[in-house]
Amino acid sequence: MKGSRKGPTPPKLLAWLNKAGPDWQPDYPFDSSEVRDEVRSGLLAEQRGLCVYCGRRLDLARAGETYHVEHFRPRRHYKPLSTTYANLFLSCGQKDEHGKPSKTCGAVKADWFDEDQHVAPDYPQCTHRFRFMLSGKIEPQVADDVGALNMIKNLRLDHPELNKDRGDVLMMIDGGDLDETDFWEPEGRFAQNYAHLVFQHLGKLLP
Ligand SMILES: [Zn+2]
Repeated sequence: MKGSRKGPTPPKLLAWLNKAGPDWQPDYPFDSSEVRDEVRSGLLAEQRGLCVYCGRRLDLARAGETYHVEHFRPRRHYKPLSTTYANLFLSCGQKDEHGKPSKTCGAVKADWFDEDQHVAPDYPQCTHRFRFMLSGKIEPQVADDVGALNMIKNLRLDHPELNKDRGDVLMMIDGGDLDETDFWEPEGRFAQNYAHLVFQHLGKLLP
């Protein structure tokens, strides 16, 4: 799981939330494009441009189509958290790059949540709950970690497409065709596909 290096609530969102009163209560989706844009760009930067779950690079030009604002605790069951910044992330889906319905991550997670057995998307702790075989397969770092098993199952983090992608990346790292500089440039704001995995494999942390 990629996770995020979460920062504080951005200022425009904070001001918008503070308008709450008898006549108006904040609700999702945001009724202000300024707030929506600020939230989206803040989340993108915190996640280095990658899906919070699988770590694929988000297609920045196709917001709302190939990626969406993800409520970690789903809106349906946690309405008061629907505009809480700490509960918001970006996930790939609703469609994949070919325009087909996404088969992994937030799109399949939908309203699932287990308050007692989940992995919070805090980088790097969340990445460390998993290990990745050279084949690209994913397993919990500790075999009986029910939270990690729940995330793999409910987000389909073991989907064959993800396994293949991850296996390809690790093979190119071990073969010397790619190294960490292909996944993160110090001056860049965004990482490349599966950078969290590459850095874990190399025993390092993604900035
Ligand atoms: Zn994803």
